[in-house]
Amino acid sequence: MNLIFMGLPGAGKGTQAERIVEKYGLPHISTGDMFRAAIKEGTDLGNEAKSYMDEGNLVPDEVTIGIVRERLGKDDCDNGFLLDGFPRTVAQAEALEHIMSDSNRRIDAVLYIDVDQAKLMRRLTGRRICSNCGATYHTEFNPPKQEGICDKCGGELKQRDDDREETVRARLEVNVKQQQPLLKFYEEKGYLRTIDGNQDIDVVFASVDTILGSLNK
Ligand SMILES: [Zn+2]
Repeated sequence: MNLIFMGLPGAGKGTQAERIVEKYGLPHISTGDMFRAAIKEGTDLGNEAKSYMDEGNLVPDEVTIGIVRERLGKDDCDNGFLLDGFPRTVAQAEALEHIMSDSNRRIDAVLYIDVDQAKLMRRLTGRRICSNCGATYHTEFNPPKQEGICDKCGGELKQRDDDREETVRARLEVNVKQQQPLLKFYEEKGYLRTIDGNQDIDVVFASVDTILGSLNK
């Protein structure tokens, strides 16, 4: 099964990916891991990507696509893969179609975990960090016994700037904008499978599992 995983930050992709990997034995290929591996192996494309990153520049599409092509050509992808964080644009999605057809493969499904934005906001803005010992809490999912105070050391809990409402909202908006044309592209191709991610983790996985079960036949 050749799968692409999509969803906004906070949609719970990481947890679901872990379960898919565990049950179906597919390699989970995230963009970050792919770059790190290519750089570590010192491939030509890895070195090229590194030179852009070292200067704080974006890695151009042709380099990224080359790295994806090499990664998907490795043996562990013979029975499929779970691609996460790529493609980000329609141009990249089109390039991926070429990569697939060049190796006589195709994308079987694009799994999109759809979560209400209000819910994402709550998940993403709830993190609190102890200013003394660094312990992390979540106002909703992992609250301290006493509001604003660390259970472990009594230190003051603070919200990181990255977790503030305005910052999170802006980040979500950028992602929504980036994601929309891609969802449309995959819908038109007939690959898109939307999963209601507003539910409990186990229920979400059951939906994912049903889809994968139907593909696996
Ligand atoms: Zn503490």
